[in-house]
Amino acid sequence: MERKVRVRFAPSPTGPLHIGGVRTALYNYLFAKKLGGDFILRIEDTDQTRFVPGAEEYIIEALKWVGIAPNEGQGFGDGDYGPYRQSERKSMYRRYADQLIASGHAYYAFDTPEELDEMRDKLKANGMSPQYDAVSRMSMKNSLTLSADEVQKRLGANENYVIRIKLPRKEEVRFHDIIRGWVVVHTGTMDDKVLFKSDGMPTYHLANVVDDYLMKITHVIRGEEWLPSAPLHVMLYRAFGWEDVMPEFAHLPLILKPDGNGKLSKRDGDRLGFPVFPLNWNDPVTGELSSGYREAGYFPEAVVNILAFLGWHPSDNQELFELEELVQAFSLERVNKSGAKFDVNKAFWFNQQYLRSKSDEALAESLLPYLKKHNIAVDKSYLNLVAGLMKEKVSFINEIYTEGLYFFQTPTSWDQDLIRKKFKDFTPGILMELKAGLESLPAFTKESIEALFHQVVEDKNGKKPGEMMLPFRLAVSGVAGGPPIFELIAVLGKEAATRNMDTFLSHTKSLNLN
Ligand code: GLU
Repeated sequence: MERKVRVRFAPSPTGPLHIGGVRTALYNYLFAKKLGGDFILRIEDTDQTRFVPGAEEYIIEALKWVGIAPNEGQGFGDGDYGPYRQSERKSMYRRYADQLIASGHAYYAFDTPEELDEMRDKLKANGMSPQYDAVSRMSMKNSLTLSADEVQKRLGANENYVIRIKLPRKEEVRFHDIIRGWVVVHTGTMDDKVLFKSDGMPTYHLANVVDDYLMKITHVIRGEEWLPSAPLHVMLYRAFGWEDVMPEFAHLPLILKPDGNGKLSKRDGDRLGFPVFPLNWNDPVTGELSSGYREAGYFPEAVVNILAFLGWHPSDNQELFELEELVQAFSLERVNKSGAKFDVNKAFWFNQQYLRSKSDEALAESLLPYLKKHNIAVDKSYLNLVAGLMKEKVSFINEIYTEGLYFFQTPTSWDQDLIRKKFKDFTPGILMELKAGLESLPAFTKESIEALFHQVVEDKNGKKPGEMMLPFRLAVSGVAGGPPIFELIAVLGKEAATRNMDTFLSHTKSLNLN
């Protein structure tokens, strides 16, 4: 019988979610939605020593922000039996560990950390891999080497112990990964990993496999760093006799530093000026603040698009995908095997595309709180016009302000070199005429301003427009670049444009250029 597709995102709440984790969640979401399946959130918090308060809430908020909230795992709504936190399910895992002991697939081990170190050192000294395996376990203190009585005595005396999987000495573990193809590993190279710890908690491996089984997970889609654990998980499915419902595996490629040299880390982000987390994160222990995409001014749609392309590619050249379109276009078969390099400029580009697609009104609305913080009060209809002009020039909403300061205040400093380079003896005179012309324009439109410019510069003074364009722009806006000048002036309005020119003219006069 065809099983309903059920996938899970299973983060450990050990800190803020790295964008690699958000990508894993996204690919799980896309895969589930495309096939009409369920997307489940499971919090893997069995390692109590690494638990960080606030991390679970952060994960949920981040998924919501990018628009990929799981439909199961939080306990809201129909058919959601969550929350699924492994720490709250811990009494159940013990039963499964006991089942493996009873069937001869696991054993108790009483070795102390010192004894383990000694064993590993000995193996290393003999050029062997330091594994607790089919050979080395026979010289250690466990229920395979101790008598049944001795084992009972130790258990009864509450001695520290762990439960380890008992791997066969020579067996081939073969499984198919949707992205990587067939993977073959021999048990001779594997460790009898701990399944259950002395603190009464299962390890990641046991809890992960038991939960995937109980939650009827059909596909395990996760980062490449878990590929080495997959053979062990396959062996656990075999040991439990669950092979017929073992999920299919898909291990996603790493997200690499921009130069391709290793895994993308928080330090790379800090160094190169981009966040590696979806939202700001205030470390509760160190107090350190890590920046997030949301607070850095990225649109959630842009982040989705950026992440979708870090490891996956569509069948054609389309680059802009809304979430719904991604659901349609996505397939695990189109995920690359090799690592995906993070490209900062491409990230800016994606944000710029989404910024341009917003209405002027929506941009102005988002800019208002930012301006308020800078104590700038402006009329909403004016801000709509500014946003409309500036949106072609910027990648982030706040740049409408930082790159277009002249729309909000009179410029009071200018690039002196530029002034010296571009000023001719006739410049101040013509600027004065232009200013007077602007003052007396009956209709202040980009067409009338443009006509005035040509009339004053060419017709009256016989100069080329190119000679006066930059000085005119500097005089009005204070800077050399920006949106088309006549439109800029029309938006700025008569009063501000002529005031700016006045300030500029008195400044250049004081320079005694001629
Ligand atoms: N808890 C693991 C993590 O933090 C999940 C790995 C998996 O998906 O199996 O990434």
